[in-house]
Amino acid sequence: KRANIAIDVGVQSNSNINFFSHEMESQFLQMMELEMQLEKATAEEEFILHYQPQVDIETMQIKGFEALIRWQKQPNEVIYPNVFISAIERMGLINTIGYSIIKQACQAQAIFTNVLGRNVGMSINLSPSQFVDPNLFAVIKENILSIGSPPNCFTFEITESLFVDNSANVMDTLNKLRGFGVHIALDDFGTGYSSFNVLRTLPITELKIDKSFVDNVTLNPVDEGITTTIIKLAKDLNMKVVAEGIETTTQHEFMKTHNCNLGQGYLYSKPVSLDKALELLYQEREHRPHRLSVDPMPQ
Ligand code: C2E
Ligand code: MG
Ligand code: MG
Ligand code: MG
Repeated sequence: KRANIAIDVGVQSNSNINFFSHEMESQFLQMMELEMQLEKATAEEEFILHYQPQVDIETMQIKGFEALIRWQKQPNEVIYPNVFISAIERMGLINTIGYSIIKQACQAQAIFTNVLGRNVGMSINLSPSQFVDPNLFAVIKENILSIGSPPNCFTFEITESLFVDNSANVMDTLNKLRGFGVHIALDDFGTGYSSFNVLRTLPITELKIDKSFVDNVTLNPVDEGITTTIIKLAKDLNMKVVAEGIETTTQHEFMKTHNCNLGQGYLYSKPVSLDKALELLYQEREHRPHRLSVDPMPQ
């Protein structure tokens, strides 16, 4: 039946301005197939989280994790968000899935904290469409209160695209979140439409330097300048700064020299399953027993 729809549309447009090529037709069919599978995956709760450590650049200690969505399509088939995130946003499934993510991330934070013996940070990505739901704040609050960890262990990552049509609703939700005590991070900082006005008017407490600046930070003077400027900006505004996508010791050393607070990247660890994250924390606990009670709060 779906194939018929596609062919009908194709024939119609062929007789007109021929914009519906065979390639587009097959893309359309692929999209329909993906959407159908995503509906099913949502109903069957196939979305899980992987966790990527965020380390203190100075001490290399694990301070927290970023929760990253994965689609566990088959027991041994994991699909990455670049394949499906925009589709689930377009389909309006991001709210349902987003709430499941928040719940899973809160539970993981409690488990991690228990294993490590000190509070572990948890960063959760929010997409702009999730802000359309007036219940977003209430659900987040409820989840955090029910696990009993301090709200300041949690960071919600937003992107500059959230401010493209700056609604009062977004501002209100962010203020409530910050008022509750969670942190707000500006993800992929410097790649979007951000203006200094956003930093001035919204309760942002953390900047994440995008991987694209980190990649050549020690090779390209422009990227170096942008990176050191973002670090300085964060310090001046009393915000924490996290470097994304650190893959080499040279990049790590650069961030250390320039007093970047946290690092995240393959150098330390790729995003890993809950079980593997627990292993990392057991290792951390064994190798650094003297640190166990030194640092009660991650942020
Ligand atoms: P992001 O929030 O900027 O997440 C960082 C991405 O960089 C992750 O990709 C991570 O695996 C990758 N990364 C981290 N370190 C390195 C590194 O050293 N080298 C390289 N090559 N990559 C690194 P991932 O997990 O594929 O996520 C991609 C994007 O999908 C995320 O970018 C975020 O925008 C979105 N996303 C992921 N999970 C969620 C979620 O739960 N909700 C929403 N709304 N968006 C999510
Ligand atoms: Mg992120
Ligand atoms: Mg990011
Ligand atoms: Mg990024």
